[in-house]
Amino acid sequence: MRLLPSRRSLKRLGYVTLGIGAVAMFVNQYPFLTTRSFPPQAIQPMNHDAPSRQENISKLRDTSQTHPYDVLVIGGGATGCGCALDATLRGLHVALIEGDDFASGTSCRSTKLIHGGVRYLEKAFFNMDINQLKLVYEALRERTVMIHQAPHLCNALPTMLPCYKWWEVPFYYAGLKAYDVVAAASFGTLENSSALTAGEAALQFPTIANRLPTGQQLMGAIVYYDGQMNDARLNVSIALTAATHGAVVVNHTRVSRLLKDPTTGRAIGVHVKDNLTNEEYDIYAKSIINATGPMTDEIRQMGDKSAQPITVPSAGVHITLPDYYSPKNKALIVPKTKDGRVVFMVPWLGQTIAGTTDTVVPVTHEPRAKEADVKFILESLSDYLALDVKRSDVQSVWCGIRPLARDPSAKNSANVLREHSVLIGADGVVTITGGKWTTYRKMAEDAVNALLENNPNLKPLFPCTTETVKLFGAHTYTPFLFASVAQNYRDIFDLEVAEHLAHSYGDRAEVVSHIARQQKLSKRLDDRLPVVEAEVLYASENEYAETVVDFLTRRSRMAFLNLDSARKAVPRVVQIMGDAKKWSTKRRRAEEAEAMRYLEIFTATPEK
Ligand SMILES: Cc1cc2nc3c(=O)[nH]c(=O)nc-3n(C[C@H](O)[C@H](O)[C@H](O)COP(=O)(O)OP(=O)(O)OC[C@H]3O[C@@H](n4cnc5c(N)ncnc54)[C@H](O)[C@@H]3O)c2cc1C
Repeated sequence: MRLLPSRRSLKRLGYVTLGIGAVAMFVNQYPFLTTRSFPPQAIQPMNHDAPSRQENISKLRDTSQTHPYDVLVIGGGATGCGCALDATLRGLHVALIEGDDFASGTSCRSTKLIHGGVRYLEKAFFNMDINQLKLVYEALRERTVMIHQAPHLCNALPTMLPCYKWWEVPFYYAGLKAYDVVAAASFGTLENSSALTAGEAALQFPTIANRLPTGQQLMGAIVYYDGQMNDARLNVSIALTAATHGAVVVNHTRVSRLLKDPTTGRAIGVHVKDNLTNEEYDIYAKSIINATGPMTDEIRQMGDKSAQPITVPSAGVHITLPDYYSPKNKALIVPKTKDGRVVFMVPWLGQTIAGTTDTVVPVTHEPRAKEADVKFILESLSDYLALDVKRSDVQSVWCGIRPLARDPSAKNSANVLREHSVLIGADGVVTITGGKWTTYRKMAEDAVNALLENNPNLKPLFPCTTETVKLFGAHTYTPFLFASVAQNYRDIFDLEVAEHLAHSYGDRAEVVSHIARQQKLSKRLDDRLPVVEAEVLYASENEYAETVVDFLTRRSRMAFLNLDSARKAVPRVVQIMGDAKKWSTKRRRAEEAEAMRYLEIFTATPEK
């Protein structure tokens, strides 16, 4: 085991520290450089409410070869919804088709971090790689945009990096100061990082281990800042924002083939199947964006059977633990576990999520974690926590597949760049893949720019304005909204519910609270989580929640937070949703059975 860093690394560290020091002094001298203002901008008029799914379907069925949409987006994850919002705000006539539910793919299964990628900055310095630096810079810039766009769903999150070797304190401090500098240069500072003594670290993160099993003592820690989000709700909110600005967005409708012009070979539309009614129809469009994440190659090969695959699917597993594992507002990162992987432990929606990244997997829409992954996370955590880490504490398990873009020279997925790529197929379809949640807006901007370049007949009315648009629920949101809800609805809600509603719905929390009082739906769906019955009705009528699974996984996050709570809530959710949507007894039974089947993917497959 090597205790001291090599002379070469120390020399590099010296240069890096000097450079950072100089830039940091400059930035500290001019603090205005570190903040960014977003002037409100008048864009497309916005309707207060999104049209119903049925209204949207009628509009979709109304197209023809002579009356096509300007843009049709396939895929309602973060990237696809971002594309629909971008193109709509440019004044184009846009439709979006999602095969399952908005955010039902990778976009609900992330670590929920809005980040520049500290690891990529390390690579940028040690490999002298300007592209990696550009990537971090771009993501840090987007980090600020996202937090500004939806402050009810996103927040800054201090993250502690514990150091068990003496040299790690100056080493990581220098690295994270460099992160601060890149953030400042991108006008995206949240808070500057700081170094802590071992005693201070233990005070701020009481469950941290003072000594590793190897005997190494805690020497100190570095605290740096990134952002955090409620990923699926943010995704749904992007879809709703696009819809309120005029995009026609429809979930549970799958694209089964592309329609082509026989003379030019260009794609002129898609054939779809509504999975809720089994109806099939065609939708015509002048241009098409493929934003189907891990399924990207499936759509590309619908257009061209010989298209070479470009995505490298890479899976990451997370588990949910009770709140007492982490302080309310501090994450923990272990940059290198025994086998070299990164492990995060993050407080999220009142619980703690922990996870790791990167194993190559086959693509499926319902990936499931293996017991070995859960074991690995628990074992890695137990080295770094003073607390006994128990398998019985695991409340939920989930797995997500990253749609990484292929770098032909890379040998494994961990070396694949997190950069996004935009490709234009021979059929004219624009494919956007790779990247990460944090950069969804920039990915969408690049995809729509490429689409416009490739379709000179499309005439946008406005330039890209997504940097300044506020998302659904953010318009009159204030950080003290939870207090108003708690004050006005103290007869029906406790503080935890008031906080949950303000952060989940932003300025719509008042509407949900009103429903709760008027319809006598203020009860929690399960005592362990602050999700109340009124949310089921609100989501069914206002947020395109079409199935019980949509509600339990993407509108509320019950399945991610506590599987047992989600299972217990199923009958009541069926009842409220069934009454709202006038479901038959047969449909209610089918929904209940499907919810129970789907929830199984929040458990790990047992070891053989
Ligand atoms: C474990 C893990 C952790 C991560 N953590 C972070 C993080 O902390 N921060 C971060 O910035 N990024 C993170 N990421 C990356 C991020 O989650 C993804 O880059 C992002 O969610 C991808 O979004 P997407 O819209 O491209 O894909 P998806 O969310 O997968 O969306 C694609 C959509 O296309 C739909 N679709 C597919 N085929 C069809 C069809 N034929 N017809 C209609 N629709 C179709 C699917 O149903 C799906 O909803 C993480 C990824 C993973 C796997």
